Amino acid sequence: MPYIGCHVSISGGVENAPMRAAKLGCDSFQVFTANQMQWRAAPISDDSRDVYLSELKKNNFENVISHDSYLINLGSPDPKKLVMSRNAFIEEIQRSIFLNIPYIVFHPGSHMGNGDSFALQTIAESLDYCIETVPDSTVTLLLENTAGQGTNVGYKFEHLETIIKQSSHPKRLGVCFDTCHAFSSGCELITESGYADTFKKFDDVIGLDRLKVFHLNDSKKALGSRVDRHHQLGEGFIGLEPFRRLVNDKRFAGLPMILETPGDDEHYAREIKLLKDAVNQ
Ligand SMILES: [Zn+2]
Ligand SMILES: [Zn+2]
Repeated sequence: MPYIGCHVSISGGVENAPMRAAKLGCDSFQVFTANQMQWRAAPISDDSRDVYLSELKKNNFENVISHDSYLINLGSPDPKKLVMSRNAFIEEIQRSIFLNIPYIVFHPGSHMGNGDSFALQTIAESLDYCIETVPDSTVTLLLENTAGQGTNVGYKFEHLETIIKQSSHPKRLGVCFDTCHAFSSGCELITESGYADTFKKFDDVIGLDRLKVFHLNDSKKALGSRVDRHHQLGEGFIGLEPFRRLVNDKRFAGLPMILETPGDDEHYAREIKLLKDAVNQ
């Protein structure tokens, strides 16, 4: 059985997240370790960390995922922005180490007009720089597939594989598969054959052993639209069936599956229950 959960707010302090997640029925959860819309992050105190870790233990959470700031662009052609992005990403790694978080999910980056291959090379170099700056870290950095909006790279499995191949530290890298992004980038997940083809292609290009986390989101936009708009499960163009298939797919048993659907906590609790009830039916 996968570890089903959702993105959880850290408002009031990161130490509140485990309890919030437990109340919603999460077996795993995702957080921002800082305000995702600001460059400067307030440091997390030792006290917050201690309470956070004891709450984690109390509620039996094993897998926590951190998602990086939306401001970071590890593929930026602007030297100043690139330095800011790399420094902020290093801080993401350091906060994750501090909180014992094993995975950071991040959007690979955007080329801002300089072309895909420029961004892919720059992202690989950025990752090497960040990994080498925090050499003792065991945090695994997960490239998230994207919808391909604007100048974002990462909307093809080949992009993710190119970054991993060009990095000097491929063992420190993995992939987070977002269903909404995959669908809007053109992966047909609805039919059984579309679903099978998508993961066959993933395995051929990247290798399923790299797949460490899922983001489960329905899509407000149509197949191949390359627009990133999450929707509640069953309300969008993907529908419920592919999610039932995913939670029962033996290849993915034991992986965290995290909801990032729009709405309040009540809807998260409802969707978590829906997914858990769908296991083995
Ligand atoms: Zn996502
Ligand atoms: Zn998204």
